[in-house]
This record gives sequence, structure tokens and C-alpha cells, in this order.
Amino acid sequence: MYRAIVLNKTESGVEAKLESLDEQALPEGDVTVRVAWSTLNYKDGLAITGKAPVVRHYPMVPGVDLSGTVEHSDHPRWRPGDRVILNGWGVGEAHPGGLAEKARLKGDWLVPLPEAFDLRQAMAIGTAGYTAMLCVLALARQGVRPDQGDVLVTGAGGGVGSIAVMLLAGRGYRVVASTGRSGEAAYLKGLGAAEVMDRAELSSPGKPLGKIRWAGAVDTVGSHTLANVLASTCYGGSVAACGLAQGMDLPATVAPFILRGVNLLGVDSVYTPMERRLEAWDCLARELDPERLAAATTEVALAEVIPLAERILAGQVRGRTVVDVNR
Ligand code: NAP
Repeated sequence: MYRAIVLNKTESGVEAKLESLDEQALPEGDVTVRVAWSTLNYKDGLAITGKAPVVRHYPMVPGVDLSGTVEHSDHPRWRPGDRVILNGWGVGEAHPGGLAEKARLKGDWLVPLPEAFDLRQAMAIGTAGYTAMLCVLALARQGVRPDQGDVLVTGAGGGVGSIAVMLLAGRGYRVVASTGRSGEAAYLKGLGAAEVMDRAELSSPGKPLGKIRWAGAVDTVGSHTLANVLASTCYGGSVAACGLAQGMDLPATVAPFILRGVNLLGVDSVYTPMERRLEAWDCLARELDPERLAAATTEVALAEVIPLAERILAGQVRGRTVVDVNR
């Protein structure tokens, strides 16, 4: 038997419960993992509350991330005892996920735990941190350099935002952190932000082009915020867009693209090919400051995740949450 959060569809919506499952409930897959840690991402909040159609079929174990130890493997790359990470690939959406003591997965989805991290730190990073790294790499690949001016991170108090602040500051960028929580200014400066701005400056409908403020940006928010960020990005600058915390819409004009050559870089973590994942985890291992990561991390037990799901969607969860699935 193993414990798991289980989502069921009911007449009134989605019901989430902590249950004990028989091993026969494990899905198909060539690797069985004894899960040590999972995490709570925005998408897990959507799945657990049923506020967006993230889950493809029910019952479903949520959790797009896990870290743990291989218990059984029919896959040539993995042996019992190997320590592994899983992010995405539809796990927690279409395939039972990480908010459980046990998971059965495709070996092709797994990443080896970098030596720099323990299993808990890997989940303090999780999909949020790995996505932040994909965004930073996308900006760098597009030629955004620290000497070109300020870079903006929106939704900075959240998971992706907090780790994007750390990573960009670590690479020598001057980081401006946009947040709706003025009380988190000291926290964000502790992660490396040079300046903190009120997200209200970005969240209402704006002009097609504005005063130039940003050499680049990581946007986790979408909607008017992303439109305003694009309108204030410098000639040839780039914006990595990965999130929709304000909304999925993009009420923008083409002006920033055709008059300033601004680049909008789409970032998806779920189906990123393995080579790019390994590059991102390798960079995280080399660049992430463990003390800053610890400062952005809160720990909860498995059952505590259920009430937290509403809070992450309301923007009330700071930084990253790791889940001790065995507690
Ligand atoms: P999170 O921890 O909840 O962070 C989101 C942050 O956005 C909040 O902490 C809040 O920051 C800000 N926010 C919330 N509601 C807002 C609103 N109405 N208007 C403006 N800002 C708002 O979530 P996360 O796990 O970091 O994920 C962030 C976003 O990225 C989500 O939309 C998620 O779906 C997306 N994501 C995408 C990928 C991908 O592969 N593309 C991967 C991971 C995450 P402040 O309080 O500081 O303003």
C-alpha cells in the first residue's frame, strides 16, 4: 500500500483526498520510484481545485514533479538505488503524479539527480525552478547581456519568479522584481533583486509603446502585464513568457515587434526535449545559491497540500513549497 492524494470528479467539481492505494493502482511504466519529495506548482493548484481543465481523466494523482529513488527498473538507463527527478511530461495531468509515496513512470522521462543537490533541494527547485532556468537560458541565447540594462521578473514573489530573480542576479544582471506584495520587498532583495516595483504599474491596459525600461524580462503573469512589458522592452530586447497568473490573454499590438524588433520567447517546460532539460539542470547545479534557495522554500506534509492549492492560485504562497510525501 502507498499513500497518495487522489482527485475525483464529483457533481460539484473536483474532490481531493489523501488515500491509501494498492500497488495494483500504479499505472504502466518501466520504472517504479519510491518518492521522497514532491512540490506544489501553480498547475498543481489548478489540478487540485479543478479551476482549469489540467487533469485529462479521473481518478488522478496530481503532482507534476517528484524526486526519489528507483525501486524497480526494466529500463536500460536506470537501476534500483538511482536517485532521480521527474518534471512534466503530462505526469499529474494524464499520468498519475508525484503527490504520492510511490510512482510508476517511463524511464525516458527521468533526469538523474545532479550531485550538487539532495532530493529535497531538487524539489525546492521543481518545475518552477527548472522553468525559470529555461527562461534565463532563452534570454541568454537571444543575446540579452547584463551590460544592456535592467531585466524584469514579473510574479517575482511566486515560485518561478523567485528562482528567476536568484538566477538572473547570479549571472550579474540588475534585476527589477515586480510583485503585488509590498511586504515581500526585503525577501526579494535577499534573493538578489536590485529594485522592487509594484505590479499595479503593469497590470492595467497600457499604450502600444512605452518608455524603454527593460533589456529583457521573465514574465510569469501574461495578459496586460506581458503586453506592457513588451511595450517597454528596448530595441532588439527579449521577453521570455512562461506563465498566465494574471490571464491567458495577450492584449498587445505588434508595435514592439515591428518598431523595436522585440523578441517574444515562448517557454514550455512540460515537453522540453531531454537535451535541454539536462542543460537546464546542469546550469541550476552550477549557478543556484543553496542559501537563497533555502530562503525561498517552505516545507509541508502530504495532506497539507490540499488546502494550499487554493492559496497558490490566489497568489498567497511565497516562493517554493516542498512536500514531504512520507509525512
Ligand atoms: P506561483 O508561485 O503562484 O507564482 C505566481 C505569482 O504571480 C504569484 O506569486 C504572484 O506574485 C503573481 N500573481 C498571481 N496572481 C496575479 C494576478 N492576478 N496578476 C498579476 N500577478 C499575479 O506560481 P508558479 O508555480 O511560480 O507559476 C507561475 C506561472 O508560470 C503560472 O501561470 C504557471 O502556470 C506558469 N508556469 C508555466 C510553466 C511552463 O512550462 N510554461 C512552468 C511552470 C509554471 P506576486 O505576489 O509577487 O505579484
